[in-house]
Amino acid sequence: MLFDTHAHLHFPEFADDLPAVLERARGVGVRWMLTIGTSVEGSQAALTLAEREPDLYAAVGIHPHDAAEADEAAFEELRRLAEASDRVVAIGEIGLDFFRNLSPRDVQAEVFRRQLDLARRVRKPVLIHCREAHAETLEILRVEGVPVAGGIMHCFSGDAEVARRCLDLGLFISLAGPVTYPNARKLPEVVRLAPEDRLVVETDCPFLPPQPYRGKRNEPAHLPITAARVAELKGLPAEAFGARMAENALTLFGIRST
Ligand SMILES: [Zn+2]
Ligand SMILES: [Zn+2]
Repeated sequence: MLFDTHAHLHFPEFADDLPAVLERARGVGVRWMLTIGTSVEGSQAALTLAEREPDLYAAVGIHPHDAAEADEAAFEELRRLAEASDRVVAIGEIGLDFFRNLSPRDVQAEVFRRQLDLARRVRKPVLIHCREAHAETLEILRVEGVPVAGGIMHCFSGDAEVARRCLDLGLFISLAGPVTYPNARKLPEVVRLAPEDRLVVETDCPFLPPQPYRGKRNEPAHLPITAARVAELKGLPAEAFGARMAENALTLFGIRST
């Protein structure tokens, strides 16, 4: 039993064969999936999909790449979506991306702050995207505070020191495909130092497939590879620790495990 805490199943990459993608995921024990919005339209699509599939949940938010498009109407619509349905279990993905810089950095920071505030108002956890911007992201979180409902540092890419600071802020750490790569230099140490009750896994599909599928489209059915690697680094049995990480996610998102 696994929970894919970060997928983009409403993206066009899955438009042609989503039913088969979901069946393959269910067939390998991926019992819950969270599809993550990156724009207002994407957040609407994420919710529509989550309302159709019983094992899918949605997160609504504006990605730092799209921050330049965020206006008052966009924040208002995100708030409406977040309150419209209990299928929306988080605000995300939000944060800073100073690697691609598709939106100006100060705009990214302001849109990140606004969405932290939104999460606080609607009492939902945040899903944080952080690329090449660890110092700035941690500083915003220090000043603004992590919303009471908590959050996840998704596709964690920092070192042990960044991990410690995220854990101190009460955040969960999510590992994606890169933890399976032979050159995943800092990630094994991060996994070993994080407490068992603060780790979750994700695919970030269609991006970042685990090692055997590199170069191909990723999908939730590949999650067991990443989960098994995390369990191996922890020195724990794969199935039991996968289920443990699913429980962590269910608790954070306030979903009852049935
Ligand atoms: Zn991301
Ligand atoms: Zn993502």
